[in-house]
Amino acid sequence: MNYPVITLRRGKEESLRRFHPWVFSGAIASAPENLEEGDIVEVRSSDGTPLGVGHYQIGSIAVRMLSDEIIEINREYYFNRLNNALRLRKALGLLRDDNNAFRLVHGEGDFLPGLIVDVYGQTAVVQAHSVGMHYARDIIAECLVSLPGASLRNVYYKSETTLPYKASLDPQNDYIIGSYDTDIAVENGLKFRVDWLKGQKTGFFVDQRDNRSLLRHFARGRRVLNMFCYTGGFSVYALSGGATLVHSVDSSAKAVSLTRDNVRLNFGDDAPHEAFAEDAFKYLAEMKDGAYDLVVLDPPAFAKHRGAIKNALRGYQKLNARAMEKMPEGSILFTFSCSQAVSKEQFRLAVFSAAAQVGRRVRILHQLTQPADHPINIYHPEGEYLKGLILYIE
Ligand code: SAH
Repeated sequence: MNYPVITLRRGKEESLRRFHPWVFSGAIASAPENLEEGDIVEVRSSDGTPLGVGHYQIGSIAVRMLSDEIIEINREYYFNRLNNALRLRKALGLLRDDNNAFRLVHGEGDFLPGLIVDVYGQTAVVQAHSVGMHYARDIIAECLVSLPGASLRNVYYKSETTLPYKASLDPQNDYIIGSYDTDIAVENGLKFRVDWLKGQKTGFFVDQRDNRSLLRHFARGRRVLNMFCYTGGFSVYALSGGATLVHSVDSSAKAVSLTRDNVRLNFGDDAPHEAFAEDAFKYLAEMKDGAYDLVVLDPPAFAKHRGAIKNALRGYQKLNARAMEKMPEGSILFTFSCSQAVSKEQFRLAVFSAAAQVGRRVRILHQLTQPADHPINIYHPEGEYLKGLILYIE
């Protein structure tokens, strides 16, 4: 194969040798002039040693490495990578009669930088975060439905908001293969209607699966507030764990209605559940002291990039303080940050500041992260984004 060659500046091959999957633009000594975003390129060190192949893109990350060998990036490549990803999910026990929702591909964590695939039953929802993956979407879709043992029939492509807009590809969210409007995903025996057409991200947050399971153990006999409920994942688990009352809150009316549907789907009309479309800070300001003895705070990413970290930390502190000050003695707080730019130390410090600010005695019971179907390439710590704490409030 004959891919255009990018040569690195002297010494800049070290991080690739340590398997880091990105080449930053500042590391490049020379590149062909006619390179287009999304092209497959070969990367070489300053002395001409081949280091691998990757997708070229415009921006501070200039190449996302697909392989550390000089191989052809073709159907066989994608099939093998996807099949390896599936093998891991099978080994994790995620494909069962009572569980058919999981993340099949987590970008760099599955050696497919720029690609996310979530599976809901017979449907795979694909998100491209790079132009290279956008161009490969048809091959990827065809490989997905051929994976042995995955029983995938539909592939929905949803990259309108994830591709760099400057690439002006004008991607349409649409089915590449099959078609199916919504589906009922099963997670640990609980049912969720997933709307990938209109929902946020791929339609459901599979990354909270293990944390929702933990919540189920804490829920018995408790009055639960699920703040930022989206599709009601934590609410459904709380009810299945024996909570006496569950209130779900989200500023989006659509999310509140999805939550109600999912509660009904699992427990009928008589569950001790109510959902409110309300802003989080307003709800917390107006809620009665001691109203809930288990609170979940799972806000959207407060920091979408490094520049926003300071404000984000202030936001986490304020949110946690507002909740903690009204929680009764002996109550439990599940608190999260899904901002990749905020480290777990920074998040913990923000929560510490909240506790100190409202003068509560607080102990950490569990430290939470993303589940095993969101693996972190050890050479690419940037892949770690979800962090959470379970706190005991006195
Ligand atoms: N906990 C959910 C995921 C939460 S995603 C799960 O397990 O699936 C974050 C949610 O916060 C979104 O549904 C969004 O609509 C909601 N949201 C964003 N800003 C908000 C605000 N100010 N008040 C309340 N909800 C908000």
